[in-house]
Amino acid sequence: MLVDTHAHLHFHSFRNDREEVIKRTLDEGISFVMPGIQIDTSRAGVELAEKLNDSRIYASIGLHPIHVNKDRVDEDEVGPLEKFTTREESFNRGAYEELIVSPKVIAVGEIGLDYWRKPKTTARKKEFVRRQKDAFISQLDLALQYKKPLILHCRVAHDDMLDILKNHPIVTKLQPPGVVHSYTGDLEQLKKFLDMGFYIGVNGLVFKLPFVEDAVAQAPLERIVLETDAPYLLPPLPAVAPASQEPQSYVAKSFDDGARNGSAKEGQVKDTERNEPIFIKYTAQKIAEIKGLTFKEVEAQTTKNAQTLFGVEFKI
Ligand SMILES: [Zn+2]
Repeated sequence: MLVDTHAHLHFHSFRNDREEVIKRTLDEGISFVMPGIQIDTSRAGVELAEKLNDSRIYASIGLHPIHVNKDRVDEDEVGPLEKFTTREESFNRGAYEELIVSPKVIAVGEIGLDYWRKPKTTARKKEFVRRQKDAFISQLDLALQYKKPLILHCRVAHDDMLDILKNHPIVTKLQPPGVVHSYTGDLEQLKKFLDMGFYIGVNGLVFKLPFVEDAVAQAPLERIVLETDAPYLLPPLPAVAPASQEPQSYVAKSFDDGARNGSAKEGQVKDTERNEPIFIKYTAQKIAEIKGLTFKEVEAQTTKNAQTLFGVEFKI
């Protein structure tokens, strides 16, 4: 059994074959968590998890930092909705509190800081960062009140995030406090997150970015959880690449089009490049290679970690 701690199977990207994708995920012995990124996707994840009513399927709720300020539309998340293109969401605690009481909600996230697309002018940059920090801290308060671990999203903002966490009671009052999803910080920052009790989430980026591989080598296996970040971040899949395509170019394209952490072109995860939970085994295998362990050892320990982190069994 494997646990995909980060799979957006409730996103628009899976609208045509969601049932089949979920079926083959479960058939492969993979449990999964569906993180929301604003109120609509948070609600959709909770509703789907409630409807499926399976002890291997859960949701988390949160307002992602890229949705705190005006941003681009990502059709893979919500579909081509006109009103979404200029949306900026302020954190509405009451709306998230309605969702958090569901037994299917096992975490608050993904929440955090994302400075990748900072505005150019100083005044706008300040406001952009302030809004992200305010939303982040409000959601730390929410998570603490309801005793839910965090699913953190952090992109080129690790020091600011560490500062905020250091000064927030959640880290001492809730152990483990959560997971840094898709970890992309450096080794010094890694030590600080681990010291606070956090896990790190590892996905297909480990094939692409040497510093992610370094983090995997450095972090104890007892603090690593697996994730796909589906529909994004398809790992290299030579065996299933379409015959017409060279495996190498296939791999490169998959990262460039879907990745949040690369040179992403949003709304562009094509069907052949869409990631899904069954591909998590490649990441588990890669972690085993990096750490000189067997696949079975990585499987058993990361599943145990996910159970400890979220406080659920992920069993039928
Ligand atoms: Zn995500």
